Amino acid sequence: MVLRLIEEDWPLDEIVMFDTGWEFPQMYDHIAKFEEFTGRKVTVVKPRRSFEEWMLRREIVARKGPRKGEVHRIGNGWPSPTRRWCTREKCDQIDRHVGNAVRYIGIAADEVQRTASANLMSNKPRRYPLVEWDMDEAACLAYCRERGFDWGGLYDIFPRVSCYCCPLQRIGQLRNLRRHFPSLWNQMLEWDGMIGDHNRGFRDYDTVHDLENRFAREDRQMTLDFGMANAVLSDNGEREKRHD
Ligand code: SF4
Repeated sequence: MVLRLIEEDWPLDEIVMFDTGWEFPQMYDHIAKFEEFTGRKVTVVKPRRSFEEWMLRREIVARKGPRKGEVHRIGNGWPSPTRRWCTREKCDQIDRHVGNAVRYIGIAADEVQRTASANLMSNKPRRYPLVEWDMDEAACLAYCRERGFDWGGLYDIFPRVSCYCCPLQRIGQLRNLRRHFPSLWNQMLEWDGMIGDHNRGFRDYDTVHDLENRFAREDRQMTLDFGMANAVLSDNGEREKRHD
């Protein structure tokens, strides 16, 4: 979106990225490459405290009930569809930084339904240029690739790229994350082990450790299936030799 805004000379005072701290390392390389390509600086806005602190250590004060005003739990836990504290913080900090200026938001034409929830998160003035241009996700990727951007291969592995540990992503993406980025997956397991009992798990109330067990089981099954397929192949080979 920003590439085309620049190419078509739209008014653009500032380019803002919200750095959750949960980005893929390749995304920081991508930003550096983008800055070099466009000659424009990207302003990085950060959360008021790190997302790890938010998730694991933040003291949460009860707003109502018998414990009103007291710390009633520690840490927000993993985000979920009903506990999107991460998105709330992101929108708040961007709103604080940008003020009342018009925002251009990169929601693609084939995900136009997301504009409704984006509009709910903030009432600041906004436009959705990709929707205006009727550019879907595939067209956006092609546009960027034509200009030499490849995100270090991220979009060859994942159909969508956001926070690597986002519990709202599809199960297949998490499986790919474990396969291709074991150190990031291990980081998730470490955080998962630190989240207290009062928090409500990761994605459909599974923990990351539950997912680890599931994926490890799948790997073992695949190894078994592969071994059996090879055994059948070599058995067939033996039979064919005997026929010869
Ligand atoms: S990608 Fe997921 S974890 Fe990251 S800010 Fe959005 S909802 Fe939260």
